Amino acid sequence: MTVLLAIVVPCYNEQEVLGETNRRLLAVLDSLIAKNLVTAESRIYYVDDGSRDGTWPLIESLAAADLRSRGIKLSRNRGHQAALLAGLLSVEGDAVVSIDADLQDDVTVIESMVREFMAGAEVVYGVRGSRRSDTVFKRNTAMIYYALMKAMGVDLVPNHADFRLLGRRAVEALREYDEVNLFLRGVVPLIGYRTATVTYDRAERMAGISKYPLRKMITFAAEGVTSFSIVPLRLITYLGLLVSAFSFAMIVFILYGAIVLKAVIPGWASSVVPIYFLGGIQLLSIGILGEYVAKIYLETKRRPRFNIEKTL
Ligand code: UDP
Ligand code: MG
Repeated sequence: MTVLLAIVVPCYNEQEVLGETNRRLLAVLDSLIAKNLVTAESRIYYVDDGSRDGTWPLIESLAAADLRSRGIKLSRNRGHQAALLAGLLSVEGDAVVSIDADLQDDVTVIESMVREFMAGAEVVYGVRGSRRSDTVFKRNTAMIYYALMKAMGVDLVPNHADFRLLGRRAVEALREYDEVNLFLRGVVPLIGYRTATVTYDRAERMAGISKYPLRKMITFAAEGVTSFSIVPLRLITYLGLLVSAFSFAMIVFILYGAIVLKAVIPGWASSVVPIYFLGGIQLLSIGILGEYVAKIYLETKRRPRFNIEKTL
């Protein structure tokens, strides 16, 4: 059995690195074809996520130079997840590997992924063996995030980004999850089927700058929580119960002081502090509720998740 393989690469302003990426991915395809693992019809699909630099013209020239390099152009920038999804849902193939354009993920483990797929795995996760190439800040925030998600009942594969292989069945299953704000790392484990993991060391970005500044990272993390967990909403309820119980105890204490002990409490602090405290809790709770309402609002619109302008 040989596999018709598709490699999906989301690209946003990646003109500095894409030439090298293409060279390396073609080399991977060559070796896989030589080993009779994948068919000669296997393709690499570059999904241009509305880049503002020369990424698309570059993809056009790569496509002109080699039949195996193809392009998909989104009508505008929709973000990494949308670009990935656009690629996954529009390409042909028995198996689809998704990989970032910046060569941080080790392209040579694609072979192990294909082998796992041939051995029966429907989903193969690329997992980073070490996070040495990351900043201390990113490493620690990532660790806290995984712990937090786990506590809230979201099943994520630690140290796995969006470098993975999906078999045709998994892709078709993914198609059924038609939420607008799709958090692939959370959805893929929900699909089920047999899974496998391959480990690799993540390198530094080859060229260009990260398209995930801190602001986007935080949004992405929050997106992951509110898309998959109702625990924050439940926490509001618990907090409300706790504060109510505390207030009730306070009332009993104050009445006891006033009626039995006849000691009138000067009481400035005890009335002002709860005002701030309760005000803070209420604002926080309303904020969390708002996050979910916003999510419902966005989902009910049923807007398309991406629009493809042209394909090569
Ligand atoms: N990307 C994208 N659309 C965006 C932002 C990023 O398609 O709006 C792509 C980008 O070209 C890269 C991948 O998503 O292939 C991951 O981005 P990046 O390497 O900048 O993120 P980091 O590795 O720094 O988290
Ligand atoms: Mg990167």
